Amino acid sequence: MEAAERRYAYKIRGVDKRSIAASKFPIRPLPLEDELLSSWLVRTAYLHHTDPSTFLNLHFPEYGRELWERDLDLYCDGSLVKRLAEKTGFPEEIIYKMTLNSYEGWLSEEIYPNNRNTFIIPIHRRSRNVRQFAQRLCPMCLKEDKQLYLRKKWRLFFSTACVKHNCFLIDKCQECGTPFMVNKRLNDGDFPHCRKCGFSFMTAESEFISENSYGLKAIKALYRILDGGIFMFENRPVYSFLFFDMLNHFTKLVKYGYRKSLRLEENYLEENELPISGIRGIPYVMELDIRQQYALFSALTRIFENQENISKFCAENKITVKKISRSMDYIPFWFSKFYNKINKVKYIYSYDEVKNVLNYLKRQDIRLTSKNLKKHLGITFSNKKLIKIKNGE
Ligand SMILES: [Zn+2]
Ligand SMILES: [Zn+2]
Repeated sequence: MEAAERRYAYKIRGVDKRSIAASKFPIRPLPLEDELLSSWLVRTAYLHHTDPSTFLNLHFPEYGRELWERDLDLYCDGSLVKRLAEKTGFPEEIIYKMTLNSYEGWLSEEIYPNNRNTFIIPIHRRSRNVRQFAQRLCPMCLKEDKQLYLRKKWRLFFSTACVKHNCFLIDKCQECGTPFMVNKRLNDGDFPHCRKCGFSFMTAESEFISENSYGLKAIKALYRILDGGIFMFENRPVYSFLFFDMLNHFTKLVKYGYRKSLRLEENYLEENELPISGIRGIPYVMELDIRQQYALFSALTRIFENQENISKFCAENKITVKKISRSMDYIPFWFSKFYNKINKVKYIYSYDEVKNVLNYLKRQDIRLTSKNLKKHLGITFSNKKLIKIKNGE
């Protein structure tokens, strides 16, 4: 018998596996503020004095041993959410909210169960050209936690620093450089620790950032947009995912060298520059380290502060309709307004956009009239077109 199997057998000796699979978790800790599902599962398992993968195997034998090997925070689909709700007696929403899937409709229109989400950090290696990514952590937050846990936002690329402690997040061991992964452990104590050398992340040293740095304000602004689901632009609400679409697009522009009037914070970059990349098909953020990402999102958030900054950036970099529409399926209406001013091209609303506008109005209980469309979203439709929209054409 293999060592691993023996350990497993020892841990469940004298226990009827089938009755465990059908029963609730005996101990059911409430999720903490912004807690990530995998973190909550680790805590729950340890409260049962069981190692996390054994715990999952016992309670969810139908998933086999694979469950813990995957990126559970993205992989947790409707049926697993339902099972976890049964196991805990919690409403499904509480479980769902801990998954990264819950960013769907907020961060992007769709969240994919694989590692291909624009702003979500993959925890697995993608290719040889790209650095190895991992779950991020703030050592200061861990030091203050009564119960140590991982935050959902620590899986986002623009979460480069902790806005509570004004310090950079870390994603690898300070002793041996190994990236941190929640599902890989050296031992069953001292969570979270380095899977290679056992270094406790709680004891890691933090690198602090000046509280006046715009980058910290930028992260706070991005969190406000994400949590609220709305981007307020020139006093008009825009769906947050339409904003993040455009933010993503601008990272591509910077990647290929459109950088005039981009205000990079100098203290965090070598030679005060971001690398210009030639690697196609790889998101720019994946080529940057945490400090470079910090400077990038700081500069981009500043551009999106107002119409003037966007116009200036587009004009100075000679960004044309062609350039933007080449890599985007559609251009959100909030962006089109001043963008048209630069390009002097009549803008045509796509079917998806009209659909989004209608959903928004419905959600806000606003009557569909020409006047309301103009007032709330700054777009004008002819009466003839309005009637067509009303009829669902
Ligand atoms: Zn912190
Ligand atoms: Zn280590």
